Amino acid sequence: MNKKIINKLCIIGVGLIGGSLARALKKADVVGEVVGVGRDVSHLEKAKELGVIDHFERDVSLAVKDCDMVVVAVPLGAMQSVFEKIVPVMTNDMILTDVGSAKGSVVKAAQAAFNVIPETLVPAHPIAGTEKSGVEASFAELYKNRRLIITPLETSSQNAISKVRAMWQACGADVIETTVDHHDKVLAATSHLPHMLAFSLVDTLAKMDAKNEIFDFAAGGFRDFTRIASSDPDMWRDICLANGDALVEMIKKFSDDLQLLSNAIEQNDSTYLEETFTRAKNARDEFCED
Ligand code: NAP
Repeated sequence: MNKKIINKLCIIGVGLIGGSLARALKKADVVGEVVGVGRDVSHLEKAKELGVIDHFERDVSLAVKDCDMVVVAVPLGAMQSVFEKIVPVMTNDMILTDVGSAKGSVVKAAQAAFNVIPETLVPAHPIAGTEKSGVEASFAELYKNRRLIITPLETSSQNAISKVRAMWQACGADVIETTVDHHDKVLAATSHLPHMLAFSLVDTLAKMDAKNEIFDFAAGGFRDFTRIASSDPDMWRDICLANGDALVEMIKKFSDDLQLLSNAIEQNDSTYLEETFTRAKNARDEFCED
């Protein structure tokens, strides 16, 4: 019996996220053949050498030929140009999905490229990652027991939604569904704002004269809090530009609360400090496992 979910998969952007998806599907033995696409041949050769892909193409339109699943795993700023290359060879049998960290901008990019959004397009976003980039950082277990959000569009067919869902479930992901707008608002709060705080904090400290002592004396808490400031700057530039409205709203909300905290410290308002820290501790203890 053929238990393959996908016969021929094309991963456009074989980096951390695309590479980990290919590895997980191969490990689960649910994919027939994997073709990779990228700009730099040495990256693609490495992906082939690591067994992440079976072969590669530089030309998107050649790579997606005869594929029943195409996953676009490039930075958000490159989505539209990739979609434009798929347009001339798109078929009704080709399911198209992406992994972008913001969804509204991906839908806009698809609208601009296709004019009429194909019914086989199902945007998605794995809530999994590391601060590393590139195929060498990819691993098959990245999505195990992690959330995968799909944001089907009004145009998305049930068949396409089921196939995208099945692909991610085969990687061990817990698939949930929401709207594009809701996804972007929630992710601005839970992922994009914390990355802004980490980048901004490390940058502020790095500009100080005493930076050597500051980083020398940094303890575990500082390392935990700032690990994500080692993430790829280009990727995060694209995420900020793609989800700007929701992110700026969250930054304003946070800045107001930080100002209130600063006022309370200035005014020796121990009640405000205690109440804020207790609310935060209780919320974290309730919602986070570790
Ligand atoms: P990555 O490791 O840098 O991989 C991106 C890949 O895309 C690279 O292999 C790059 O290869 C290729 N690429 C870049 N521009 C391209 C283009 N125009 N055409 C074809 N290939 C291109 O980045 P990543 O972390 O996997 O992120 C990929 C996507 O996943 C982004 O949209 C990001 O928002 C999303 N995402 C990331 C995380 C995370 O934690 N990292 C989590 C969830 C979602 P070449 O340089 O050789 O072209």
